[in-house]
Amino acid sequence: MANIIVTIDGYSSCGKSTLAKKLAARLHYKYIDSGAMYRAITLYFLRNRVDWNVAEEVLDALKNIQLEFVVNPEHKRSEIFLNGENVEYVIRDLVVAEKVSEVAAVKEVREFAVAAQQQLGAGKGIVMDGRDIGTTVFPEAELKIFLVADPAVRVARRFKELHEKNPVVTLEEVKHNLEMRDYIDSNREISPLRKAEDALTLDNTDLSPEETLNKACDMVHAALKRG
Ligand code: C5P
Repeated sequence: MANIIVTIDGYSSCGKSTLAKKLAARLHYKYIDSGAMYRAITLYFLRNRVDWNVAEEVLDALKNIQLEFVVNPEHKRSEIFLNGENVEYVIRDLVVAEKVSEVAAVKEVREFAVAAQQQLGAGKGIVMDGRDIGTTVFPEAELKIFLVADPAVRVARRFKELHEKNPVVTLEEVKHNLEMRDYIDSNREISPLRKAEDALTLDNTDLSPEETLNKACDMVHAALKRG
């Protein structure tokens, strides 16, 4: 089977990562969670008190950041490492989620992350999810999926996920965080979240993860046929 690039973009918590992981596993492709990169950078900035409104501080800090995706042999999925530390789980915290969209709107941060993402996709055979993957990172990707889901369903999904880890989290907090991130992500100057003109919309509001995967697989097969 030919190696192609599959991009999955969309609003927060519409199941992009769930689909991307499963699709990559089904295709034996590499999976890259671009949001994890912005989250890891945000974690570094928070820990090191970097003011992301000051370009020189950002540039200096980025020189000290090394991001790596390493496949965990236990479940065979890649996890993100920040300067050698596995931060895959700590970056999912609401503390990081509250600031990540501000950090991801910074020009220097985007240039750093996009360059790294393009390098990761150089050999194709990759599924990458995010907000600007089909528009900015891989505008020539063979298949672009724009995943959508009803906002209430998205909030409920993310709440369930976060509440299991931290029972103190409230539904209201999660709803506010998703709305805020979607707003910032859609309205920022550089690479705002939007559907690429040639992206295919996939609405998974009423679909199970397996059904969503099957629809995405049909899209992949059609893309491969197109050549
Ligand atoms: O995908 P996830 O929700 O983990 O992404 C966290 C945040 O990172 C998003 O809300 C967005 O601000 C930023 N992001 C981005 N561009 C991407 C992926 C994520 O700006 N390609």
